[in-house]
Amino acid sequence: MQHPLVIIGGVAAGMSAASKARRLQPDLPVVVFEKSEYVSYGACGIPYYLSDVIPDHNKMVIRTPQYYDERLGIAVLTKHEVLSIDTEAKELQVKDLDSGEIKKQPYSKLIYATGARAIVPNLPGVDLPGVYTLRTLNDGLKVKDALASPSVKRVVIVGAGYIGLEVAENLRLLGKEVQVIEKAERLLVNFDSEFSQIVSDELERNQVHVHTGEGLVAFRGNERVEAVVTEKGEYPCDLAILSIGVRPNCELAHNAGIKVGFKGAVVVDRQMRTNVPDVFAAGDCAETYHRLLHKNVYIPLGTTANRQGRLAGQNACGAPEEFAGVLGTSVAKIFDLAVSITGLTEETARDFGFDVLSTTVTTLDHAIYYPNPRKIRIKLVYDRKTATLLGGQIVGHEGVAHRADILATAITNGMTLGEFAEVDMCYAPPYKGVWEALTVAANVAE
Ligand code: FAD
Repeated sequence: MQHPLVIIGGVAAGMSAASKARRLQPDLPVVVFEKSEYVSYGACGIPYYLSDVIPDHNKMVIRTPQYYDERLGIAVLTKHEVLSIDTEAKELQVKDLDSGEIKKQPYSKLIYATGARAIVPNLPGVDLPGVYTLRTLNDGLKVKDALASPSVKRVVIVGAGYIGLEVAENLRLLGKEVQVIEKAERLLVNFDSEFSQIVSDELERNQVHVHTGEGLVAFRGNERVEAVVTEKGEYPCDLAILSIGVRPNCELAHNAGIKVGFKGAVVVDRQMRTNVPDVFAAGDCAETYHRLLHKNVYIPLGTTANRQGRLAGQNACGAPEEFAGVLGTSVAKIFDLAVSITGLTEETARDFGFDVLSTTVTTLDHAIYYPNPRKIRIKLVYDRKTATLLGGQIVGHEGVAHRADILATAITNGMTLGEFAEVDMCYAPPYKGVWEALTVAANVAE
């Protein structure tokens, strides 16, 4: 009997892998183990679920285990935790979390897609009721439940990255008093510094108070959290959310002799293979190839998890293809602002030894004579000698995400500023200026 392709983890990477493998090999048995009760959901929707912009959590579940079973013939076993991997015997030990029964599961190929978990620092009071993380759908359900209590009026968010700030916006929509604590000297440290101030101003305009340069020291409280304590002060709160990054779930892999590397993520080659034959890894548990740095980095994103998972599924079916890599292209909504980034910032480019120049322009997102044109700020980073585009950051209101994707396309294709300025972009007053904002930036840079 043919042993199945087994996948550990049933969210973005795992289910993309399962679906791709099924399409390529309709007769291949595919089994997915997921320790929670949910698979295939969009964790990215959780901040909006908190504020009821997305009222029903089931809307974030893209496909159910029943769908995979009945429509695709993929066996999805939820509430099943993989306890160990024996890579010699090609066998897993799996615990049914309902019955407590522990079973053995042989595999022909294995895809490790266990994702990441929220970092929880070992600090006094971190276990107090009222201190939460937001990583899984279950976390989202718990936090929403807690927020519904009328006694929860003041929330402190620790961490001023995308997720912390998205949550801040949604909690303001609920009418909560929100403060954000950030250890770094500025928020959104993955951007160049000039963008931090714009975002900070937007947060203040919306009564979100950001305290930068303040490391977390403790949570204080008796029965439940009453304050977040930093190096500089104490912030009273009824609820606290830790949003200080994630750590790959790689203990299982490490214990099985699967090599882990950068930030503790599984080392993979560009075919998503690990160092162990017939074992692949994908998503937030794995390193990812950066197409400008030409080496593996750790940038956990839903986009990457889906792409890597799909490729792992394909490669596990013996149809080898290489991962083209990432640019870290991402976007977030922070109140009325959209902020996006692709490729290298000026700071990172220099850190990695690139000799770069940059140009920043502020222009309008559509024709000046059409109602409500808004400012859009674009920073281009490019090679000093060749003028090849290496990165871009955009903050504005309309069309920010699409412009980041256009820039990512240009960087992917190795375009210079001159070539980019000559791209034939569209125009109509409600959407764009006759000189597209990106073209304006490229022309100014040239
Ligand atoms: P995960 O989603 O972590 O899934 C891994 C699964 O493996 C988990 O369900 C876990 O239970 C299971 N598992 C782990 N160990 C075992 C085991 N031993 N046995 C069985 N099962 C196991 N990304 C973007 O690109 N854009 C966004 O706007 C964005 N917003 C986000 C907002 C929030 C609030 C959060 C939390 C994340 C956001 N992300 C965003 C990131 C994105 O959600 C993740 O990159 C993506 O979910 C990673 O998918 P994954 O399958 O690799 O891992």
